[in-house]
Parts: sequence; structure tokens; C-alpha cells
Amino acid sequence: MVRSLLPPLVHLVIPIFLLVVIVGHTSCGGAIACLKAAQTPNFNLDGDIVTIDSHPGDSPLNRWLEPLTRLVSTLPLAGKSQEEALSIVIDANVVEQVERLALSKTIQGAWEGGHPVRIHGWVYDLRTGLLRDLGVTKGP
Ligand SMILES: [Zn+2]
Repeated sequence: MVRSLLPPLVHLVIPIFLLVVIVGHTSCGGAIACLKAAQTPNFNLDGDIVTIDSHPGDSPLNRWLEPLTRLVSTLPLAGKSQEEALSIVIDANVVEQVERLALSKTIQGAWEGGHPVRIHGWVYDLRTGLLRDLGVTKGP
């Protein structure tokens, strides 16, 4: 008789964690555009937000970038170099996306159903190839 080396399945309990990773990246053209738009002298949060002047204000690109441009306008960037400001914008965008996703019906429903979904926020450095964990993980 050949005996299996594997334990019977009924005894095999492997916790499965579902991971969602939101990854921003350095030198992000979208973040640069939002930073520039929010730093224009006539930028007005109450008006229409047009991040990319060469596209209509209601274009998909401008609608997609608007939340980040609005977020940029709330960040403490005074006195920062453009490089420092861009890094702050990129990090803030990842943090914001992690928080928004955590509040989504899909993730809330998963957590309420006992599914161990974790959301991580990282930034990929294009120069070094390294990922930086922003330490904003949500989930069990
Ligand atoms: Zn990008």
C-alpha cells in the first residue's frame, strides 16, 4: 500500500489572503500635470478643474485627473522643491486611493463577509527599481 505524503485535505487549512496593491510610481506624468495645474496662479477649486489645457475640460483625461488635481491643491507644498512636491503628490495619491478603495462597497462587503482582503499602498521608484511600502495597509 502506498501512503500519501500529503495530509488529508480535511486537515489542511491554509489561510488565503487576498492582496490588492495600489502602486504609484516616481516621475509620474499624471502627477506632474496635476501638480502644475494646481500651482497655476489662477487655479480655483470652486471652478472647473482643467488639468490638461490641450484637452476639453470634460474630456475623459481631465475628468480622470481632476480628483488628483484637487488633492494636490490641499497638500502642504509651500517651500518644497518640485521634486519634493512631486514625491508628496505621488505618495498622497496612493494613500488616497487605498482609503477610497477601503471604503468601496466591494471591499466593505468582502470584509463584512469575513474575507481577509488587504490593501497595500506602494510607490515604485523608476530609477532604483525598488518598491517603497507607504505603511498604509488596510484590512485584517
Ligand atoms: Zn504615472
